[in-house]
Amino acid sequence: MVVYKDEAIILHAHDLGEADRIVSMITAGRGLRRAVAKGVKRTSSRFGARLEPFTHLRVVLHEGRNLDTVTQAEIVRSHAAVREDFEKFLFGEAMLELIEKSLQENQTIPRLFEILEVTLGILEGEVREPALLLSAFLLKTCALVGYRPRLEDCILCGREMGAERCFLDPGGGGVVCSACKGQVPTGMPLNPEALRLMRSLLGEKMAGAARREEENRLVNEVIRASFLFAESVLERRLKSRSVVLGHLERKGEAGPGESPHATTNTRELD
Ligand SMILES: [Zn+2]
Repeated sequence: MVVYKDEAIILHAHDLGEADRIVSMITAGRGLRRAVAKGVKRTSSRFGARLEPFTHLRVVLHEGRNLDTVTQAEIVRSHAAVREDFEKFLFGEAMLELIEKSLQENQTIPRLFEILEVTLGILEGEVREPALLLSAFLLKTCALVGYRPRLEDCILCGREMGAERCFLDPGGGGVVCSACKGQVPTGMPLNPEALRLMRSLLGEKMAGAARREEENRLVNEVIRASFLFAESVLERRLKSRSVVLGHLERKGEAGPGESPHATTNTRELD
């Protein structure tokens, strides 16, 4: 039986029967793996509590035909702050879902592990607008899996995109100008400021996205476009999309500085 050591971030965990837990994780060296941890629910288990989503671990695994078996797990970084904050958790979950759906089982894509680790680290700290961090993560992940969105010029005629409104054609891999719009079946209208912001998010380091603050209208447009593009690349729905957009909608209604919970309370008092 092959035994290997790797670093892993848990993406998803669920219990199996009375005592075991199944986890899916992205590993630094072997991509997406699924593994079983036996007896983790016994109080004597030394690593059961460590096998939670977001946790970055150093693991020892026995390779199996369908499932590996976790035999050791040591925390590198728990990312507890992401789990403990409602909003961070919601955006972090979207990141985990994207990673899980970007990979086939046992498939490795260079730098995917690293971008997740870096972004979760940033999400733990101060982030002005987590939706922009998530947008950057969506766009950069698409680029890493081989579909860097083409946002500089029209994908059909090559015209450089300046101050005009254009259309995102996710299936075509980028934006089309208004003159070419008729040639694509669908396209999400995109304002020039939103396009500029998406280009910046894609081009700058992830930490830059955490420092940005923009109007709600612009944030909403960019996160929608980024989700649309990612779903087209993956050819799969992302469950987190409606969760994130619903959250932003409630937050927008609450206005700046108020939490969505505050709105709910006010309504209840009315
Ligand atoms: Zn064009």
